[in-house]
Amino acid sequence: MQQFIDSYDFKGKKAIVRVDFNVPLNDKFEITDDTRIRAAIPTLKKVLAGGGSLIIMSHLGRPKGVDAKFSLKHIVDHVAEKLGAPVQFADDCQKADAQAAALKPGEVLLLENLRFYAEEEGKPRGLAEDATDEEKKAAKAAVKESQKAFVAKLASYADCYINDAFGTAHRAHASTALIAKYFPNDKMFGYLMEGEIKAIDNVLKNAKRPFTAIIGGSKVSSKLAVIKNLLGKVDNLIIGGGMGYTFIKAQGGNIGNSLHEDDLMPDALQIIKDCKEKGVNLSLSVATVAADNFDNDANTKVVDIFNIPEGWEGMDASPESLENWKKIILSSKTIVWNGPVGVFEMPNFAKGTLQIAEDLAEATANGAYTLVGGGDSVAAVTKMGYADKVSYVSTGGGAMLEALEGKDLPGIAAVRE
Ligand code: AMP
Repeated sequence: MQQFIDSYDFKGKKAIVRVDFNVPLNDKFEITDDTRIRAAIPTLKKVLAGGGSLIIMSHLGRPKGVDAKFSLKHIVDHVAEKLGAPVQFADDCQKADAQAAALKPGEVLLLENLRFYAEEEGKPRGLAEDATDEEKKAAKAAVKESQKAFVAKLASYADCYINDAFGTAHRAHASTALIAKYFPNDKMFGYLMEGEIKAIDNVLKNAKRPFTAIIGGSKVSSKLAVIKNLLGKVDNLIIGGGMGYTFIKAQGGNIGNSLHEDDLMPDALQIIKDCKEKGVNLSLSVATVAADNFDNDANTKVVDIFNIPEGWEGMDASPESLENWKKIILSSKTIVWNGPVGVFEMPNFAKGTLQIAEDLAEATANGAYTLVGGGDSVAAVTKMGYADKVSYVSTGGGAMLEALEGKDLPGIAAVRE
């Protein structure tokens, strides 16, 4: 079965490619960050260089129907510039038959926003607020039914299918999952997807030991499934950031005003117990940089993590905690990092997160495999200038988080099946 584009002969073939061109636009409809467009260019160029033509499809934003604000026509020129080829535009993704049929090798057609149709996500729209369960069920069944024709139409434009949209790989949408079955021998991952899949496999399937996970961020609840999945695999588990205080409070510590989730305390205690049972070295902060206000200019002091004074809250990892973590990181062969270890958006509380980025860069230079993915750690590592000093920075926040939870992502499964 065909899975990667390097071994596919695109000569004379029309390739329909799902990309993630969900880029931020300002109020003049100018692209403010084109990372996602640039990320897909190698795959698109590969098809053209191989003698194929391109039908590109994507979503943009969360339109509730046809809405000019979310039109992909705003990005046509930019895509053409990055691709180095003219780009035609089909202003209805379901009425592009003639344009697709006329495509010659080397030509490019961009389809209008897939989410102008409810069928892309397969979720009913415009349901009355007081709709009964029965009405909801009927609406869902109707959209699922019309989704079949929607997918069939997209598939009819092309000879082969490429999924290069990792950002939506965790969604079982028409263009990310359902369409693949129309191309049993001609479906594959683009380079971006290939990179993400290999990165996931490098940590979840082929990790070299010692294997360390660094989990930070604000809430235990949003990372619980990731921690549970990684617990069975890692040698070291570093827990930092806002979520760490729930673990401290659960053990009887005084955490002052620090962020915490009382209802997650039993889970935190269970994780501590599981780590002991499985021989995983759990490393929490020993001290914290506390502030008397959630403000960059607040007064600060370093305090014992179990004794944060009333009126103070933990904002960043302390130098001693960072020293402990550095030793663990530099002795590891595989490291996955998800979530900042402090309120990194405030410069005075970004030191811990910056130190972790530096440690990861040093570990990478020493030969460790380092993956940064899922959530704000990607923003932190990019903002701090370390993105090219680690082995891999994931482009898909939610998708990477679900992959680290051990879930089979529909967009990946559909191509692999
Ligand atoms: P997440 O999206 O779960 O990775 O969480 C990222 C957020 O966690 C960032 O906005 C950080 O500012 C926040 N965060 C990290 N450490 C703390 C902390 N000690 N107190 C409050 N928020 C924190």
